[in-house]
Amino acid sequence: MAQHESIDGLIIRTKDMGDHDRYLTVLTAAQGRMTLLAKGGRGIKGGQISVSQLYTYANFEYYKRGDFNILKCGNPIEPFYGLSEDLDRLNLAAYFCEVAYELSDEGEPAADLLRLLLNSLHAVSRDLYPQEQIKGAFEIRVAALSGYAPDLLGCRQCKKIDGDLLYLDVMNGSLICPECLSKAGGAVYKGEYADELREAEILLRLPAPVVAAMRYCLGAPANRLFAFELADREDQLVFSKSTETYLLSHIGHGFESLRFYRELRGEIPHKKEGN
Ligand SMILES: [Zn+2]
Repeated sequence: MAQHESIDGLIIRTKDMGDHDRYLTVLTAAQGRMTLLAKGGRGIKGGQISVSQLYTYANFEYYKRGDFNILKCGNPIEPFYGLSEDLDRLNLAAYFCEVAYELSDEGEPAADLLRLLLNSLHAVSRDLYPQEQIKGAFEIRVAALSGYAPDLLGCRQCKKIDGDLLYLDVMNGSLICPECLSKAGGAVYKGEYADELREAEILLRLPAPVVAAMRYCLGAPANRLFAFELADREDQLVFSKSTETYLLSHIGHGFESLRFYRELRGEIPHKKEGN
């Protein structure tokens, strides 16, 4: 009789196999990403329906057979039902999970990443903060967890800490003030979306409240990550756009789920078939 094991994890990807079976990619604290095979996972008969849905955080009982981890049963801990009440929430969750998939590995512990993801899904599913705020905080924090934390202490040249405006040099992960930038003869990046990301120097124009929000997100305790205020709507948008550019530039590509999220919100034109 195979030894049963149990682990808590969040389903970040599913893939159906044949008519009945489903592979679940689960993010766990101790083992990073792992794959569970839910036999009959697509049908009600399997009895596993409640723990084989995307974005379900559950305790999974499984056993090993050959190379596979076969799901025996599971108990939902947090199903994040609020996500399915709204398409924007679902799409944002899909993006978070796609990023987490990309930045995790099998067998590599991912406690901080899992915690960030759970906190972010919780905030999105309950609509606790504006989505730009949750998205931006997730992006800057996940970049930091992956070793890409920007140095936001002050201008890298003159060390000035504050100012109405600072520029974030994305690939160098450092700030530069307008005075030092014009001395250096730098140009300002004006591109808008992930497709336009280039290897070239990317300079993001950050108003003071956005710099403050980013600094907060890098230093805040995990359970207080979203508890900052960006009162101005324009600042919220700049914050979210900047953290996105920062994260995607360091990962090196965009995400389908993000494009979809932006399209449905009318933030970018709908991508036509065959284009
Ligand atoms: Zn300076």
